[in-house]
Amino acid sequence: MSSQVSSTTNSDKPSPSEVDVVVVGAGFAGLYLLHKLRAQGMRTRVFEDASDVGGTWYWNRYPGARCDVESMQYSYSFSEELQQEWQWSERFSGQPEILRYAEHVAERFDLRRDIQFDTTVTAAHFDEERRCWNVETNRGDRVSAQFVIMATGCLSSTRVPDFKGLEKYTGKTYHTGSWPHEGVDFTGQRVGVIGTGSSAIQAIPVMAEQAAHLTVFQRTPNYSIPSRNSAMTPEYEQQWKSDYEAFRDEARKSKNGVLTNPNDVSAMAVSEAERQRVYEARWEEGGTYFMASFNDLATNQASNDTASAFVRDKIRSIVRDVDVAELLAAKDYPIGTKRICVDTSYFETFNRDNVTLVDVRDAPIEEITETGVITGGRSFEFDAIVFATGFDAMTGTLLKIDIQGRGGRTLGEKWEAGPRTYLGLMSEGFPNMFMITGPGSPSVLSNMMVSIQQHVDWVVDGMTYLRSGNLDTIEPVREAEDAWVEHVNEVAHQTLYPQANSWYMGANIPGKPRLFMPYIGGVGTYREECDEIAANGYRGFRLEEARSRKIEAAE
Ligand code: FAD
Ligand code: NAP
Repeated sequence: MSSQVSSTTNSDKPSPSEVDVVVVGAGFAGLYLLHKLRAQGMRTRVFEDASDVGGTWYWNRYPGARCDVESMQYSYSFSEELQQEWQWSERFSGQPEILRYAEHVAERFDLRRDIQFDTTVTAAHFDEERRCWNVETNRGDRVSAQFVIMATGCLSSTRVPDFKGLEKYTGKTYHTGSWPHEGVDFTGQRVGVIGTGSSAIQAIPVMAEQAAHLTVFQRTPNYSIPSRNSAMTPEYEQQWKSDYEAFRDEARKSKNGVLTNPNDVSAMAVSEAERQRVYEARWEEGGTYFMASFNDLATNQASNDTASAFVRDKIRSIVRDVDVAELLAAKDYPIGTKRICVDTSYFETFNRDNVTLVDVRDAPIEEITETGVITGGRSFEFDAIVFATGFDAMTGTLLKIDIQGRGGRTLGEKWEAGPRTYLGLMSEGFPNMFMITGPGSPSVLSNMMVSIQQHVDWVVDGMTYLRSGNLDTIEPVREAEDAWVEHVNEVAHQTLYPQANSWYMGANIPGKPRLFMPYIGGVGTYREECDEIAANGYRGFRLEEARSRKIEAAE
């Protein structure tokens, strides 16, 4: 292949003009990819928009940010040394510690030297003649590669709604997903928070302790379970570390990639007293395990109703003002069908004198003015507004890149009516372009560390298979992709999930196609399917024999 132009970079060496693999993103997916690809002897260049590694945990530095999968489980399993040496200080670690972990991984495996930071990939075009991807960045880099892997994250494009007058506001504005590195001191300030999703639910209790007054604008209330976070005990840590492989293996085979001690009984099969006992115990245990109280909370309306009612009663027992409690108690969608939230003193925060809840469901935010927010004819003045308004999830980041596959067809054109993938890993017409935790895979419904590693392993194995078989490209066959899209949709509609206006459905973005994007069939089942497909010569994929090598040889 002929050399392409390469430009200056911010890393210690310029970007090479040709590599085997371009990886976009240096979050947990990109880091593991780089490590694994290097081990296979593949020349890899990673491009990352941020100034350092960590992805989600680099960007989301809002107060209170932490994981809601236990840290002993929300961590890499690919290196026994790593999982033994790293020590988590809490049951659910906070963002600073998770970011330190990502940095540690980058150092330990010497990853930064192949990552170009502060660089956004703007385009990736497939060259059908040469069977390679030509990748461009905002810094003028042009790199060609046999493979391109989008490790761009499902929750990496922040979204601020198109509020009228936003540009006029003279106070400070923040988005939870791109929080200032130096932190924000809200002491003495009047602060408005828009949104009550997972990010807001974590941030609100911490901000309320600082701000002079905090006003929370809520459109849809959320179900949230107390985290019961605590310091890591040596005994608990040891329990995991002494048998890590067995625990990890169980997680890989599980429904959501997390060990939740699932109770394999229908909520309808037990007495009211027993149901209450189970819910109470799970509430006390804390965290998302609550959703594993019974085996049919995601599929049986009557069962789900009992869990939803339990949580509403808890809210009523915590929040002293009955009107505020009723506003906070979600009623019009089943629990768990919007991402279940996990909190530390969220509902208790509404008992504080310096916190006000404003319902913007019936009276949406009309306008942002120079000094604040107008809703329902009332105006609120703020020194700062925090947008906890979420992300253009799963597809937004991919579609920001000018991705062109065969015949110059863009991914945006192909996905006009919603994402179409085979296994959430690839899309027909875009050979040798992989997605990590893409739409159509369990991704955001799972412990992402488990799903990321499964995808990375599958993708790198696939690439190795191609190379060892003198094959140039891999690409889904249309029929296999269509069948998978249908399957993803069918499985989703066997559950209660599509009932909620969630970001899983694209419902948070006006005009975004409404369909359930992640695959709900379960992490273990999905892994088996992927492995079986690979073992059967990559069933449903078309593999092209090497031609580029012959062209190259002839040149
Ligand atoms: P990301 O971490 O999103 O990394 C993608 C990277 O790609 C980003 O750094 C981005 O800058 C970069 N990028 C994107 N586009 C480009 C481009 N065009 N050019 C260059 N670089 C680009 N999951 C869980 O399982 N458990 C949790 O408890 C949990 N908590 C979360 C809390 C928050 C606040 C959020 C937002 C998400 C949480 N998640 C959680 C999901 C989380 O996103 C994943 O767990 C995981 O961190 C994703 O890793 P990733 O590498 O796939 O993507
Ligand atoms: P989100 O769940 O999408 O929440 C966004 C919030 O903003 C919602 O309450 C939404 O209301 C509100 N909103 C959006 N537009 C609005 C408008 N025009 N007017 C009023 N309100 C508006 O986003 P997020 O909280 O950042 O969380 C996104 C995902 O990241 C989570 O679901 C989870 O997967 C992950 N996350 C995990 C954790 C964790 O606990 N580990 C923490 C943070 C994030 P509606 O509901 O009415 O749309």
